[in-house]
Formats: sequence, structure tokens, C-alpha cells
Amino acid sequence: MDADIIIVGAGPAGLCLAKNLSGRSLKIVLLEQQPQSDLEAPQFDGREIALTQHSAKLLQQMGLWDLIPRADIAPLVDAKVIDGPSSFSMVIGHELGGRSELGWLVSNHLIRQAAWRGVQQAMAANADITLMAGEKVTAVHTDAAQGSVTLASGRTLTAKLVVAADSRFSTTRRMMGIAAHMHDFGKNMLVCAMSFEQPHHFAAWEWFGYGQTLALLPMNPHPETGAHRASAVITLPSREIEALMQMEPAAFNAAVTQRFAKRLGAMQLVSTRHNYPLVAVFPQRLVAQRFATVGDAAVGMHPVTAHGFNFGLLSVEALTKEIATALHTKGDIGHSSLLQRYEGQQKRATLPLFWMTRLIVEIYTRDTAPAKLLRKALLRVSDKLIPFKRSIAHSLSGA
Ligand SMILES: Cc1cc2nc3c(=O)[nH]c(=O)nc-3n(C[C@H](O)[C@H](O)[C@H](O)COP(=O)(O)OP(=O)(O)OC[C@H]3O[C@@H](n4cnc5c(N)ncnc54)[C@H](O)[C@@H]3O)c2cc1C
Repeated sequence: MDADIIIVGAGPAGLCLAKNLSGRSLKIVLLEQQPQSDLEAPQFDGREIALTQHSAKLLQQMGLWDLIPRADIAPLVDAKVIDGPSSFSMVIGHELGGRSELGWLVSNHLIRQAAWRGVQQAMAANADITLMAGEKVTAVHTDAAQGSVTLASGRTLTAKLVVAADSRFSTTRRMMGIAAHMHDFGKNMLVCAMSFEQPHHFAAWEWFGYGQTLALLPMNPHPETGAHRASAVITLPSREIEALMQMEPAAFNAAVTQRFAKRLGAMQLVSTRHNYPLVAVFPQRLVAQRFATVGDAAVGMHPVTAHGFNFGLLSVEALTKEIATALHTKGDIGHSSLLQRYEGQQKRATLPLFWMTRLIVEIYTRDTAPAKLLRKALLRVSDKLIPFKRSIAHSLSGA
């Protein structure tokens, strides 16, 4: 056999899994279709990732947290939910989570960079990871004895376990015959960094406007000018997002300032703009014979509840724990009972929030008069329900 584990995909989840499994006398192969240069120097992709306290702890345990520049980690102190043009907001305060912040915000490319560096360190220390970049997996087959993957170059590799970390549209999951529930929201999300006049007080906004959904994810002030900065997230039908993507910066600034109803004063684009289609995915099975999914391949969340990568880290933690137990008892790391335990745990951890997120989006993006009345009432009632708000605070902090 060529390896103990083959991981398909060196996105943040695949890199974290390789790093977490390193140093346990396993032979790990990490396959990635992108060239190595893209992995070494990941470019800004607009995503500001809200990390729970639990995710921050996992990244610390993996030795990755300290590889992210401290100045680029912003605290997520409070979260506000706003409905329509109303000035009322439901505030989920950090005190409900029992800490001075609910979680942390870090740019996705800096997480990828830290994970890449962590893998490099692990390779140097343990020599147990073989990274094959620029290699696309084109076929997967597993049987009772082993799993095998075929690369576009024609080469075939075998291992005791194949792990798919190849995105929510995982082709390896599909090649294994695993069906997935996919929901296309019919909208796109534009994300970019903006500076503005009013302070954000490190509060994230989720603003269910009429005909648009906006979010604001606080970033640290500009290190030299001190300008207030945040990631602006605008959700609209794709043709409207395309129009915003094509606008000259001055027109874009004016349009976004207007969309945010000037609540932050004049806003200015300070990064590239990025456009993501909104499709949520939940596979019917997370495992198969000698096969497991992690990261977005195991659950593709709508970003509104900010849990995609947090769930990705939970999957890395859970699969590592099962594999470590098998190694400790000299068991088979691809055994079906191990994989079933992993699947059960991940489904329990992710499925309720997956459906809850779908429901929130359904209620808060419908613009009929009864729906508007219902959401307004729900927000006001929810604001008074401290146990409910505490449960949201715990979900955001990963408690
Ligand atoms: C706008 C936006 C905002 C978000 N905000 C948050 C947030 O606040 N909090 C949060 O927790 N999450 C958030 N997320 C989700 C988070 O970005 C994802 O969960 C995370 O990036 C997924 O990582 P991954 O490694 O599973 O998949 P990916 O990043 O998709 O990586 C998959 C990798 O597999 C490779 N690959 C694919 N197919 C093959 C193949 N056949 N052969 C070889 N390699 C292959 C790809 O090239 C890629 O490198 C957000 C997402 C978006 C779009």
C-alpha cells in the first residue's frame, strides 16, 4: 500500500487534518489539484471567517493559531441582528457567552497560510506527509481491503482510508455514489473589505433588509491610519451582484454606503471584491467503505450562521480522535465501526444547525407583508428571551 491515509484536497480542512494526524506513525498523502505556488501564498479571497472559541482552541492545539499574525485577528465582541429599515436590533452580547468576546475573526487566506506553514513544519519534523500538488483526483474506488485513487496523470495510489476534503461539491464523494441534499438559494454573496467613518465596536451585523441581506464582520483598524474597517457581505440575486462587481470603485462606494443606509457613514472599498454562489449541501452519508468526508465535503453551510469552517474543524477533531483510538488499540484506521462512530458524532453536531440555518434564511429573506410582520415580532420577542439569546451566544462561541 502507498499510504495509510490519502486526503483529497488541501483547503483549510485537508491541511488541518494532515497537520493533526502528523506525528502518529502514519503515512499520509495529501493531494491537491492547485499548483503548489497557490498553496504557499494563498491570495485574499474576501472571506472573513468567524471562529468560535472552540475553533480557536483547536487551532492553538494544532500549533496554527500562533502562525496567524496577532494584528490580523479581530475579536468578535457582540452580534447584532437587524430587520428591515428599523433602527431596533437584537443584540447577542459577549457577556451571554461568559467571555470578553464571542469569538474571533480571521481572513480565510491567513488561515490557509497558517495551515500550510503548519503542514510544512510537520513534514520537516516527522517526514510523514507527502504533498502532491497540481494533482487532480479523477477516480476513487474502495473495497474491504483498501481504497485507491486515480490521478489525472494516470497514477493510482492506495491506502487504508481515503478522506475527501475536496469542497462542498466534492467529486470524490460523488464518485463514491453518495447522494447529497443540495439547496440553491438562487442568490450570490459579494464580500470585500471596506473602511468607513463610524466605529463598529467589534460587533458583527446580520441585517435582513428588504430585498437584500447585509452583514458586517469587524476587522481591526488600519495599522497606520487607524481607519475603521470591516468585511462587508452583500447577498442579492446574481445579476445584481454582477452589476456591483463591475462598478467603478467610486460608484460602488456610493452604492454600498446607500445600501448600509449611511449607518457607518461614507464607506470605501479597500480590497478586491469576491463573488460566491449560495448553495447549501448535506450529504446523505458522511462515510462509506474505507472512505470519510471532512470539512465542506461533510457539510456545506449557508454562511449566515458562520459555521462552515468551525464545523470543518470539528470534523478534523472527531476523525483524528477515532483514528488515534484505533492506533492506540492497534486497530484498523479504516474500519467501518470507527467510520460509523465518526459519522454519528458529526451528524449530531452539524445537522440541527444546518436545518436551523435554512429556516432562518427562509423566514428572514421572504419579503411578503405577513413574513415581514412575523420576523419583526420574532426579533422583538427573541430579544426578551435571555435563554434563547444565551443559546445563540453559545453557538457563536462554540461552547
Ligand atoms: C462568503 C463566505 C463566508 C464564510 N464565512 C464563514 C465564517 O464566518 N465562519 C466559518 O466557519 N466558515 C465560513 N465560511 C465557510 C468556509 O470558508 C469553508 O467552510 C471552508 O473554507 C471550507 O474548507 P474546505 O477545506 O472544506 O474546502 P475548500 O476550501 O473548498 O477546499 C477544497 C480543496 O479541495 C481541492 N480539490 C477539489 N477537488 C479536487 C480533486 N478532484 N482533486 C484534488 N483536489 C481537489 C480544491 O482545489 C480545494 O483546494 C464562509 C464561506 C463563504 C463562501
